[in-house]
Amino acid sequence: MDRRDFVRLGLSTPAILAAQEGPAREERVERMTPLETPAIALCHLGFLPKSRKVVIYRWAGESAPTEFIVRDIAAYPAPFRQTRPLRRVTSDVIDCLVGDFSDLEREGMYQVTVGDELSVPFFIRPDLWRRTLPKAVGYYHYQRCGVAVPNVHPACHLDDARRRDTGAHLDLAGGWHDAGDLRKWMSATQMNGIALLRLARNLGEQWDAAGSGLAPLLEEARWGNRYFLKMQDADGLVWNDVAGGVNGDNSDNHWTDNRAGTADDRHLNAAKPEHVQALFVTLQAMMAQAFRKTDAPYAEQCLRAAVRCWDAARRGAASHTLAWWTLAALELHRAAGKELYAEAAARLGERLLALQTTDFIGSQKDVRGFWRVSETDANPYNQAVDSALPPLALLELASALSEHRLATRWRDAVRLHLDEYVLPLAAHSAYEIVPYGVFTGSPTPEHYRPLAGDLTYRYFMPVRKQFWWLGMTSHLECYALLLASAARAFGKSRYRELACRQLEWILGANPFGACLMTGEGMRNPFPHSRFVGLIPGGIMNGIAGNVKDEPVLDTAYGFDWRTTEYWSPHNAYYLWTVSTLERA
Ligand SMILES: [Zn+2]
Repeated sequence: MDRRDFVRLGLSTPAILAAQEGPAREERVERMTPLETPAIALCHLGFLPKSRKVVIYRWAGESAPTEFIVRDIAAYPAPFRQTRPLRRVTSDVIDCLVGDFSDLEREGMYQVTVGDELSVPFFIRPDLWRRTLPKAVGYYHYQRCGVAVPNVHPACHLDDARRRDTGAHLDLAGGWHDAGDLRKWMSATQMNGIALLRLARNLGEQWDAAGSGLAPLLEEARWGNRYFLKMQDADGLVWNDVAGGVNGDNSDNHWTDNRAGTADDRHLNAAKPEHVQALFVTLQAMMAQAFRKTDAPYAEQCLRAAVRCWDAARRGAASHTLAWWTLAALELHRAAGKELYAEAAARLGERLLALQTTDFIGSQKDVRGFWRVSETDANPYNQAVDSALPPLALLELASALSEHRLATRWRDAVRLHLDEYVLPLAAHSAYEIVPYGVFTGSPTPEHYRPLAGDLTYRYFMPVRKQFWWLGMTSHLECYALLLASAARAFGKSRYRELACRQLEWILGANPFGACLMTGEGMRNPFPHSRFVGLIPGGIMNGIAGNVKDEPVLDTAYGFDWRTTEYWSPHNAYYLWTVSTLERA
């Protein structure tokens, strides 16, 4: 991801920018580390009956508590209460006591007690994750642009947009606001459509127990796609954004008078980055499949748009875009039924395979199997949004082209990454989250945790590399998606357990005891959402780190966008991941 993608996470005014830069920003961030309480951390949603169930209690002193109590709050007529042991574990982030109650499968609403501290009440029930899906889908409806959203905002931005380069006006109304602001980035919001269609593909009509069927998902995807199709230029390539801000600033991030040609018109950024093209092909090919039976002309229109973009785009040498192109080629193969796209996907997969580190590098023998940045940059691939995408693309490829001569090698590459990189790194912390990434030495002046040999790691993005850094929600969700997919492909329950642990961190099992989805769990930070306020189902950037790689989260209404802003990819990966976990 380059800087342009993060400019949308920019700041509202020069004053806020100044306050968040330099020493003042670092002082503010230091005040965002966890308080002493709550010391109990567990998933605020709760747990599936047949799943690993863990409570974490932060404790670094002497005379630690030795047990916890779990009781059913609603048990009637007979009270239900069990006392279980806590064991001490040395853990990165913070030393912890850990209690396990995985064998408790009885459905109910429970509460855990350690000493005199009570946990958030939580469920053990089979529809635990699935019942959150309608809320997470509903987030996108709140973010619609170019139409009135009752009780949220009147019709907006009907005057989008004026070309930055020529000044010409084009009809680019519609789409979705991307985040806690009003901008329309193609990189982020095309993920909404991909996720809605993944959800539809994974769970079908049963995705919502209310019986609404697929119509709401398809209608929402189609809403966004009106704008995406308008963003395709005559050469087949797709523009980058509307209202991203002229010259990287925040000047287009405002409501307008809805009249084209007036001074408050927002701007089209006519740049055509490779990543946006790969997402466009992926989404249009998925739309073609989703609408083939119900609206064949529209499906054909989407497929034609996908092919035009595929034919016009260049495919570079970076792991990130090669992974997206692999998924794009597979979707084109499914949509068009042509062998040439399967062959293209396999060739892309072969290049992706070559970018994995299969040898131990950096004078150590502990971890391997991570990806390099590109064919010309040997640094480890670290990415705040699509962190697990290279192995995920290979796993999809191996599943779709299972007879291909390289299929076994694609599967082996995924196993190598999981067993010799993900599992050992996740074992460093009681929370079992996958660190942000490994590094060679200390590339920036801040703390990198020693791993082995020359290799270091951080749970959170470096904060002194550039002005932008943000919470790890999408990174963790993307790994949860890889682990959930791999659990299915390889029949390994440990992968599924770890997938859940990544989601549990986001939903409350973290050192802040804070749930990062609005409308679920407790201690939700107030989101950086400065135009429409709270959005039910919205998921925040989440917990980031400071220079010492300690967790930070704005729980004190500081409007810190790095940790509390909503962002499209978080809801996208949530829907994609939970529906993968829920597939029968
Ligand atoms: Zn709007």
